[in-house]
Amino acid sequence: MNHDVKDLKLANEGRQRIEWAAQAMPVLDGIERRFIKARPLQGVTLAACLHVTTETGRLMQVLKAGGAEVLLCASNPLSTQDDVAASLVVHDKIPVFAIKGEDRDTYFRHIHQVLDAKPRITMDDGADLVSTLHSERRDQLSDIIGGTEETTTGVIRLRSMAEKGVLGYPIIAVNDANTKHLFDNRYGTGQSTVDGIVRATNRLLAGCTFVVSGYGWCGRGVAMRAAGLGARVIVTEVDPLRALEAVMDGYTVAPMEEAAKIGDFFCTVTGDMHVLRKEHFEKMKDGAILCNSGHFDIEIDLESLKATATDRRLIRDQVEEFTLPNGRHINVLSEGRLVNLAAAEGHPSSVMDMSFANQALCAAYMAQNGKDTPKGVMGVPEEIDREIARLKLQAMGIAIDTLTPEQERYLNSWEMGT
Ligand code: SAH
Repeated sequence: MNHDVKDLKLANEGRQRIEWAAQAMPVLDGIERRFIKARPLQGVTLAACLHVTTETGRLMQVLKAGGAEVLLCASNPLSTQDDVAASLVVHDKIPVFAIKGEDRDTYFRHIHQVLDAKPRITMDDGADLVSTLHSERRDQLSDIIGGTEETTTGVIRLRSMAEKGVLGYPIIAVNDANTKHLFDNRYGTGQSTVDGIVRATNRLLAGCTFVVSGYGWCGRGVAMRAAGLGARVIVTEVDPLRALEAVMDGYTVAPMEEAAKIGDFFCTVTGDMHVLRKEHFEKMKDGAILCNSGHFDIEIDLESLKATATDRRLIRDQVEEFTLPNGRHINVLSEGRLVNLAAAEGHPSSVMDMSFANQALCAAYMAQNGKDTPKGVMGVPEEIDREIARLKLQAMGIAIDTLTPEQERYLNSWEMGT
């Protein structure tokens, strides 16, 4: 079996950590039991490009239990957990192509190796599989019945492909499910980002000024958790509605121009480029800590920081210190890549349980319906989304009320007024 991982000797360690994650992923357990009986992915080759974490490891096992021939490569060069990659190869016989810290060429070579298996379903986190297929391997497009996409930025890329009429097959935007973005993007990013910052720096957040750029679902989560640890949070935004929401949630909202002067920590979660740039670096306090939890490593303009810096050194694992001509120092965490996955372990398992339940059920949906689904980006079928919420509550041992017949009549009527 073809594979490319760091060290197969790490396999047992990886297996134990996957088992630990699995303990907090009861919804996926239930789906696995169904999959073993129904085999909805029987004989389907499925290529996945995801963060190679313990949670992804568990998802791969479930897809395989559903009958799929799965292959896995990384969706980010820094997020791979090498022990998980080894365990999947050794214990689950899944071809994995991912090594933590791989360079750009290796990253794309791994994507090609996964595509060499001629997948019929693609599962992406950031649309790198889809874009490689559409730019370099167009001859394979007609073999593909459908795909799924995990993350906000991937969905934005795919929607733009669909609008331009170039998307060659149907893809489900898993990120659009309520059971995905309301939890994964908010509580997952919130906790794992702060976790990454704390692991990388070992600094106290209480009493500090913490600047969050972008108040989407991820930004809301990061702001909430930084505030929870006692930081004064400043939000920067370009969207008036979101800015207003941040104000009413109790945060200070200010332009980066101002925030740059007073922030101790800066975390970008916008999905856009160069949110922190030269004009801001110059105003920052000595020792400011910069990181990104948004999709790509472009939110902090590292090129200009490197060009202006008079000196730079890795002062601590995951922390690079830049000296500016004004004598001040600026610290960048994890090369400006997703700090939650590079310096910590990504979102905790119990939230990935829901995201990956969506992935598993949407892959099964595509295996059954992909051929009859028009090309383009579609949402997660509502029954899947609601079912996952129901299963998660059930697993948590939480019961809820049901409407009485009288209430149902009331909600369906328009006659009853004041
Ligand atoms: N390809 C992009 C990925 C964006 S990261 C990149 O440049 O790295 C955002 C996605 O990571 C989220 O949608 C989330 O679902 C996923 N993620 C977060 N924690 C994870 C974990 N523990 N395991 C697997 N995926 C995770």
